[in-house]
Amino acid sequence: MIVLVVNAGSSTLKCQLIQTDGKIRLMKALAERIGAAGACMEVAFAPDFREQTVPVEGCTVPECLSILLDMLERDPDSPIASLDDIQAVGNRIVAGGEYFSESTLIDDEAFEKLTRCEELAPLHNPPADACIRLLRERLPHTPEAAVFDTAFHTTMPPKAYLYPLPQRYYQDYGIRRYGAHGTSHRYAAQQAANLLGRPLKDVGLITCHLGNGGSITAVNHGESIDTTMGFTPLEGLMMGTRSGSIDPAIVTYIMRRDSISFEEMDRILNKESGILGVSGLSADMRDVLAAADAGNEHAALAVDMYVYRVQKAIGSFYAAMTRTDAVVMTAGIGENSAELRARVFAGLAHMGMILDLEKNDVTGQIGVNRIISIDDSPIKICVVTTDEEMRIARETSALVD
Ligand code: AMP
Repeated sequence: MIVLVVNAGSSTLKCQLIQTDGKIRLMKALAERIGAAGACMEVAFAPDFREQTVPVEGCTVPECLSILLDMLERDPDSPIASLDDIQAVGNRIVAGGEYFSESTLIDDEAFEKLTRCEELAPLHNPPADACIRLLRERLPHTPEAAVFDTAFHTTMPPKAYLYPLPQRYYQDYGIRRYGAHGTSHRYAAQQAANLLGRPLKDVGLITCHLGNGGSITAVNHGESIDTTMGFTPLEGLMMGTRSGSIDPAIVTYIMRRDSISFEEMDRILNKESGILGVSGLSADMRDVLAAADAGNEHAALAVDMYVYRVQKAIGSFYAAMTRTDAVVMTAGIGENSAELRARVFAGLAHMGMILDLEKNDVTGQIGVNRIISIDDSPIKICVVTTDEEMRIARETSALVD
């Protein structure tokens, strides 16, 4: 089945066209800084994936998608003859609230519920919904699915998802932990169970999605029982540009001292903090590790803080589980950085998570799912390669089938 995967953010649009039967990618597109001066979209078609740069200055997210559909329809190098060749669309949706506990086909009723979830992720859900609206107009006969970041976490018990706030904020405003990266945690857990050779329902796993965004989930017998991201993806670990958890009183303190607006505070916490804020250099872990190696103290501190917070989250979820069979590392940093993994697990050996430094080495191993702990480590350590677009495409194709 040929599936168009649409991943719309506040100022980004990532799309891929995927032939799910052979897991073949036919098109990749990425537009960033949408709405800013000089915004461009990079579009590349199979087989050579030569990038074409399309100016999209002044366009909204759905307008960028419309331009991409025009290209798929008319470009001589397009891998499809007409838009009718697209057999399904899979939309990544950040927040599904309490309405959606699994991926769903989008009919009128589901779309109405989707619009009600917009206030839960005001930066991400509205542009995604606008893309769905556009696709319903332009591809009226093509089934569309919504694949939610939050769905996997709807199994959390109230003690994990409620905040110690007056109950009315949950009842009236829906303020609770929803979590995120659910598709990735679900996939990582299943792949780890395969590596362990045991059914997912029989194992306890701590899955660590460490990328530009980061979250850790306690997966007990195949179900998410707790996760570090919260009401929004700002809570939890220190991330590329996001602070993660801080004392909430810091927010009001800074706002008062600097007389800044809610929007400015939001920007500081989401865009200027985390690895970027502490290192003062970059949000990219590769740059920061390199700078730390070269003796930059701020970069070294950022790495230390990042590692420490990951260790604390793993430790706290170990306490939340009834059993822990493995810790699973995935996403950009988790998959690719042997150094980061070595540093995290150097502090966790006393909990029975004992890394094998040779197996941890990445040489020739990028993209290979594997166990990287020593053979008799009481708790195994696994590395799993995540591929969000492929998973969305396959979930969509399964729903449509
Ligand atoms: P993601 O959001 O999953 O694409 O992950 C992006 C993050 O992964 C960025 O911080 C990258 O610097 C980081 N990353 C990717 N490859 C490596 C690597 N080899 N070593 C360290 N960090 C990496």
